[in-house]
Amino acid sequence: MKHIARRWSIARRLTLLYGASSFLMLALAAIYLYWSLASNLEREDNAFLTDKVRVLRNLLRDSPGGVSLLAPQSVAEMPRLLQYFVRVSKATGQTVVETPGMSDFMAQVPFPSPFGADETPEIGIEVDAGAGKSFRLMSAWAKVGPSGSEQYLIQVALDVSDDDVLMRSFRRNLVFLLIGGLVFSCVMGIFIARKGLRPLEEIAQATYRVSASQLHGRLLPKHWPKELELLAKGFDRMLERLEDSFTRLSQFSADLAHELRTPINNLRGQAGVALSRVRSPDEYQRVLESSLEEYERLARLIDNLLFLARADAPTSNLQHSSFDARQAIETVREFYEALAGERGITVVCEGNAKVEAEPTLFRQATSNLLSNALNFTARGGKVVVSVRQNNGVVELTVSDNGCGIPPEHLPRIFDRLYRVDPARSQSPSGAGLGLAIVKSIAALHGGAATAQSEPGKGSCFRLTFPAASSDAQATLAPM
Ligand code: ADP
Repeated sequence: MKHIARRWSIARRLTLLYGASSFLMLALAAIYLYWSLASNLEREDNAFLTDKVRVLRNLLRDSPGGVSLLAPQSVAEMPRLLQYFVRVSKATGQTVVETPGMSDFMAQVPFPSPFGADETPEIGIEVDAGAGKSFRLMSAWAKVGPSGSEQYLIQVALDVSDDDVLMRSFRRNLVFLLIGGLVFSCVMGIFIARKGLRPLEEIAQATYRVSASQLHGRLLPKHWPKELELLAKGFDRMLERLEDSFTRLSQFSADLAHELRTPINNLRGQAGVALSRVRSPDEYQRVLESSLEEYERLARLIDNLLFLARADAPTSNLQHSSFDARQAIETVREFYEALAGERGITVVCEGNAKVEAEPTLFRQATSNLLSNALNFTARGGKVVVSVRQNNGVVELTVSDNGCGIPPEHLPRIFDRLYRVDPARSQSPSGAGLGLAIVKSIAALHGGAATAQSEPGKGSCFRLTFPAASSDAQATLAPM
């Protein structure tokens, strides 16, 4: 049952809730009206009986003899809605005066015990006299004469059958009103729910229209209801991100095909030329040696692509350890010392920090950045590799005073296979994957990679890694 309710449409749920709440409201109003009408009628009837007793008591007190002269009207002569019987009798049971037909009436309906002569009667008792008739009865003792030594019994019976008829018809009308109200509120509920949910349908249809080739479509600036505007905004942002990723992915596929085509073409060309006629063993050896270079380039490219693919997979788990970041960057600097010397570039290491990272990856990131800095800095230039610990984060910075990166390329340099000027790239990987790997390494450690650059003045790359907790034993991982 719960399961079915969970699968109900929102429109159905809203209709049900709307109908139920309207019905409940109507039912409460009806109960209140019924109760208030019933108690009003009862109050009026009691007031009528009390008044009759009071008048008779006054009469008996002021002129006891006058009572016997009263000639009560017969019920048939009274107005239909005010028919009542009255009887005044002595304590001995002898009747002083009564409405004609009262004796027959008394035989059918027993009167309640009378109120005392000093009590003020307020509430009578309703009895069913059969044949669709009902009466409200009241009896009370009255003192006779100014001395009040003698007492008479007053009995009054008011015909309240019409009240019952009125209440019955009122009840019937209320039931009709409730059923009508329930139907009306359900119909209104369906109408309101459908109208209210129409924008949701429209937004759903708009999302259906989006496909891989239609990623540029947006839900805004159409005016949606306030509640849906947030959803439309979120959806548009998601589309923006998807479109961006999609473009990058297409670009990556095109770049990859291009990157693979060049070495394969070279290999094919060399093999074709070598096979065009019979060659000496030396010539074959030269061809194989030159092919080997291309194979190595391809193998490096594939290794790098594999690394990036693994880094993307959420299952990759790192062998973290705490080590001295300064010592790690010094090791990388020593590795590049010969190359830097050859190119006449000074490399300096600065700062101190204890980092919590995968040592090989940390050094690989430093190595990629340093290698780039050496590739894009002219003779006589300077490269500074520094580490710094700040608020639980280790910041690795590699800055150079080389050629810099034009601002239009800066946002894309961390993209895979992206190169500012492919012809000028001399890095060992050389395929535009170096910075993509750097960014992946930082991301794998929960950090970030950023770059600042000014063409002609130099570049500064900044990576963040988690810092080692202070109680961790710092060790230098082997290179
Ligand atoms: P590659 O491995 O081909 O060098 P990278 O991803 O490492 O590719 O770098 C991408 C591009 O960013 C390079 O082609 C280069 O133009 C630019 N770049 C990277 N580092 C520097 C730097 N220190 N100075 C100037 N340009 C740089």
